[in-house]
Amino acid sequence: MNPAPYVGRFAPSPTGPLHFGSLVAAVASFLDARAAGGRWLLRMEDLDRPRCEPGAADTILRQLEAYGLHWDGAVIQQSQRDDAYAAALDALKARGAVYPCACTRSQLAQAPRNREGEILYPGTCRNGLPPGTIARAWRVRVPDVSARFHDRIQGDLEQNLARDVGDFIVKRADGLFAYQLAVVVDDAFQGITHVVRGADLLWNTPRQIYLQGLLGLPTPVYAHVPLITNAAGQKLSKQTLAPALPEAGRGAVLALALAVLGHPPPPELNDAGPAELLAWAGAHWRIGNVPLRPVIANTAP
Ligand code: GLU
Repeated sequence: MNPAPYVGRFAPSPTGPLHFGSLVAAVASFLDARAAGGRWLLRMEDLDRPRCEPGAADTILRQLEAYGLHWDGAVIQQSQRDDAYAAALDALKARGAVYPCACTRSQLAQAPRNREGEILYPGTCRNGLPPGTIARAWRVRVPDVSARFHDRIQGDLEQNLARDVGDFIVKRADGLFAYQLAVVVDDAFQGITHVVRGADLLWNTPRQIYLQGLLGLPTPVYAHVPLITNAAGQKLSKQTLAPALPEAGRGAVLALALAVLGHPPPPELNDAGPAELLAWAGAHWRIGNVPLRPVIANTAP
């Protein structure tokens, strides 16, 4: 039997324009798909409406095109997919895999945190809502077992959901579906076989694999590319004021992105534009050459 054809994706959150860190993740997933002769889909993760910035989705599409990252098919938008997420939540309810939670943020302020700084839910509502409280959010009940998964870049990893994450939210108190649920529903809906994304999401992967199991959805193959940090060692993000990708000198920016992905273009491509650089990189792409560790890009544009 032939393996499933490769379908990859890039799933930016339109909270602002793409910066150098997001370009690196986009380029890695694009090249991995193209080198495998696969499709590369785009999904706008505009789920968290309050965090989205008006116009950012259009800006991201323009930036991807300008950098030669042409996607296949129609762009899907998470803001249009509440019905699919609601159906998945219903399926989880029918399995008894989720429970309503009445805890407020301030009640959980003292709860222990995991190594990512996320609240480790103490289980207050796990066996029923305390009398006199009302349901605010929905949480998934997680098992106290260590589960392993393989990452094509980071290697074999192990996480115990109960110990390291705790019962996590799939529908938030503000009525929005949580990223963990939406990403799993959408990766399956789009037929994604390979996820290549930033290592900031590595720690989320076991949650997603667990939800896929509960919902009877296939698990894609995962690869997490190193995070790009600024000179202060912080992840490039809107919060750390990472600048938007520059409009000029795109070839040089892309060459730098390829270099941090372990694929420095040869000197004869010094003056090449995005199309030529991506063609070269697609022909030379080896995921094993992508470094494990975060790369400091204090020279980043
Ligand atoms: N929307 C997420 C982000 O921009 C990426 C989600 C994913 O790739 O699974 O960080």
